[in-house]
Amino acid sequence: MARIAIVTGGSRGIGEAISLALKDAGATVIANYAGNDERAREFSERTGIRTYKWDVGDHQACLDSCAQIAAEVGPIDIVVNNAGITRDGTLARMSYDDWHDVMRVNLGGCFNMAKATFGGMVERGWGRIVNIGSINGQAGQYGQVNYAAAKSGIHGFTKALAQEGAKKGVTVNAIAPGYIDTDMVAAVPAPVLEKIVAKIPVGRLGQAEEIARGVAFLCSEDAGFVTGSTMSINGGQHMY
Ligand code: NAP
Repeated sequence: MARIAIVTGGSRGIGEAISLALKDAGATVIANYAGNDERAREFSERTGIRTYKWDVGDHQACLDSCAQIAAEVGPIDIVVNNAGITRDGTLARMSYDDWHDVMRVNLGGCFNMAKATFGGMVERGWGRIVNIGSINGQAGQYGQVNYAAAKSGIHGFTKALAQEGAKKGVTVNAIAPGYIDTDMVAAVPAPVLEKIVAKIPVGRLGQAEEIARGVAFLCSEDAGFVTGSTMSINGGQHMY
């Protein structure tokens, strides 16, 4: 039976690659996005993957949209919490809104999507949740107290929820990408990016597909014994 998967932020960047990898693996994929209608329309026409627009930081919107998807498509077996934003700045320059927006979307989105879907997975005895963290949640990063805190929180959230799902056939894992060649990284100033790449042992940025292959494995039947783990896919940048 084909599994039904939701990928948040699934219409571009790493999320696009994840949506395509899960589709290739046989899942019926729904890609969520926040506001870029033109990109979502182009993605949907090119891939045949349905898109739904809502803000993952909005608790009620997650509950309502997941209920709508369950009614229109079927029960949700797989959730990939990929949607994420940055609002970088040193602590001195970071506003409360910069802090709150990042916590609300990057960490709050994981809670909201789990509230909307985890119970159904437990009832049906099978489920996969994969949360996209970051190397900067593991190691910290200058000018990112908001982003590093939210991503670090994802790793704790993952281990805690994995314990609730472990005996119920529901696995919960995280992937911590290093620097991946997407719009998010394109926003980093070139001289800063050069210094970052110089510190990556494999000597290049990662490709979105390299993260997507890890997600596809964690969502597969074969990964039933993997739960509460964080897979670091970062070109050897941060080894521990
Ligand atoms: P991206 O290119 O900026 O794409 C972000 C995606 O998230 C877009 O589809 C966007 O929708 C969606 N999104 C943003 N806010 C949302 C919200 N409130 N509700 C629903 N969807 C929302 O980002 P990316 O580089 O692919 O990153 C994807 C994930 O990997 C993020 O969680 C990021 O933190 C993480 N990550 C990235 C890197 C990297 O090097 N790129 C490294 C480590 C971790 P719209 O298209 O509508 O804007």
